Amino acid sequence: MEEERSNRKRKRPRRRKNRAENSSVNPKHTENQHQKVFNKTDGSECEDSAAPPAANRRVSSSFLDKMRAKLSGGHFRMINEKLYTCTGSEALDYFKEDPALFNVYHTGYQEQMSHWPEQPVNIIIKWLKDCSPSLLVADFGCGDARLARNVKNKVFSFDLVSNDPSVIACDMSNTPLDTSSIDVAVFCLSLMGTNFASYLREAHRVLKKSGWLLIAEVKSRFDPNNGGADPDKFSKAICELGFTSISKDFSNKMFILLYFKKKEKQNSKKGEIEWPELKPCLYKRR
Ligand code: SAH
Repeated sequence: MEEERSNRKRKRPRRRKNRAENSSVNPKHTENQHQKVFNKTDGSECEDSAAPPAANRRVSSSFLDKMRAKLSGGHFRMINEKLYTCTGSEALDYFKEDPALFNVYHTGYQEQMSHWPEQPVNIIIKWLKDCSPSLLVADFGCGDARLARNVKNKVFSFDLVSNDPSVIACDMSNTPLDTSSIDVAVFCLSLMGTNFASYLREAHRVLKKSGWLLIAEVKSRFDPNNGGADPDKFSKAICELGFTSISKDFSNKMFILLYFKKKEKQNSKKGEIEWPELKPCLYKRR
């Protein structure tokens, strides 16, 4: 009996430590949360021990669900910050090392999006539905490829990880698309890397003359009063790359939408463009 108890004592802390390591969040934080779990369940019953009384099980499972959500929310924010503060090729290596992080990121991303009154990808889907279905589309940073699944057009979907045969895994500054082969290039909340200008250069390369460039980005990244970029400077830089600004939509609370067309003539200023810095979009704890 005595030995059994000391075995239990020895096993529990080791389990807690492993979980903290796996979750990649502050271990101190994790420790405290688990401490609470143990207190709530009388120190003896938790999700990984023998069956608790029914009432405790109910309290404990909803409590644990909340704790899990908090941990995965923290993990999402950590990955999100990483993606906004590194280059595309570093991000590609990051996910290559542990592709499971991509799912953690997208679960958190979907959770955040579920609080937005409108999702920019749906506006782009509507826009495409009003165009000819024969237009060839490239979706740069496609996520779960919702765009491709909702339009009739042929869509080339690119992201850092491919969980679907239709998605091509690559750093989008270097896609396998032919030069001047695409009618519409879409960046929907995907200008994350510090080298975002190279993604736009790639879009310019693959677009046909007069091809469309559609950009949806988080509005706070373009609020100069809050450390964000000046949208006019951003737009000017894109024009210098070889585009004409067609329209801007600032009506949504959460995101802006910019529409450009590739110029007929090659731009000579390509080398000296002054790109504004785009501040990372860091999501709040909910
Ligand atoms: N466009 C989708 C997903 C937006 S989340 C939507 O609106 O729902 C941003 C996506 O861009 C993420 O899936 C991220 O992995 C991808 N991304 C960021 N940098 C990238 C890069 N350098 N190359 C390819 N994909 C990238």
